[in-house]
Amino acid sequence: MPNSMITLNYQKCRPDLCNSGYCTAIPACPLKLIEQEEKYGFPMTNSAVCKGCAKCVTACPFKAITLS
Ligand code: SF4
Ligand code: SF4
Repeated sequence: MPNSMITLNYQKCRPDLCNSGYCTAIPACPLKLIEQEEKYGFPMTNSAVCKGCAKCVTACPFKAITLS
């Protein structure tokens, strides 16, 4: 689906509880649209070319990522 977009909810996001500080949604995205500047940092996204596959949504254990 073109023109999809993900939103990160920083109220729910807990990088400290995800894979020793590493966001588990990052390796799940086939387009590498989620990045983390440093271990334990909040992930950020450039979802301009997001294809809406929802793999990142599934990979996040805290339901911090929503797709629209
Ligand atoms: S997997 Fe989810 S809760 Fe964990 S750092 Fe990534 S977005 Fe945040
Ligand atoms: S929905 Fe798919 S393409 Fe879009 S950011 Fe998530 S994993 Fe990447």
